Amino acid sequence: MARDLEPSCKKCRREGEKLFLKGTRCSTHRCGFARREYAPGQHGNRRTKLSNFGLQLREKQKVKRIYGILEKQFRGYFAKAASVKDVTGHVLLQFLERRLDNVIYQFGFASSRAQARQLVSHGFVRVNGRRVNIPSFLIKKDDAIEMKFQKTGQKLVKDNIETSKARNIPAWLSVDSDNFKGNVLRLPVREDVQYPVNEQLIVELYSR
Ligand code: SF4
Repeated sequence: MARDLEPSCKKCRREGEKLFLKGTRCSTHRCGFARREYAPGQHGNRRTKLSNFGLQLREKQKVKRIYGILEKQFRGYFAKAASVKDVTGHVLLQFLERRLDNVIYQFGFASSRAQARQLVSHGFVRVNGRRVNIPSFLIKKDDAIEMKFQKTGQKLVKDNIETSKARNIPAWLSVDSDNFKGNVLRLPVREDVQYPVNEQLIVELYSR
């Protein structure tokens, strides 16, 4: 399976904002972006004015990096979104939000989407009572999600729940942290996306 091996902090520096890819470290003074608020590389702190294409490309890369998705899969989501009779950008974001690894992160069971991805692929997650180990699995309305542990994992998730208390659980989800369970109340809408994104730029990029 292809993996993106670029260091996480470099991604934030490239996008010029914090993408919160490393869990608790992102809120400390050890955050790579807080220490060096300029793009990586020899000419990183030179000012450059981006073209239209540059802006579109950066927006797409930012969203891909937030969700930890590679180009091929992201294009797949776009193609699926474009085939739905609705606002393509909104449907695209909805697909991304519905990924099981994102939902585990939003519940606060993982400190980052990357860690949520690991919890899912290591078999700690049940959806409607059945084990699902596919991070890109798309959840549906009324799905019941639960973490199941054997010997390992429980302490990590407990610690994550403690540290994620400052984060808001999106309105489309409900969580029962004491029992490591959560529910999908409805499908996410555009207003539920909790980071600044201009999805129209992504649609324009792929429509070129
Ligand atoms: Fe980005 Fe800072 Fe987290 Fe590194 S520590 S991933 S720079 S937010």
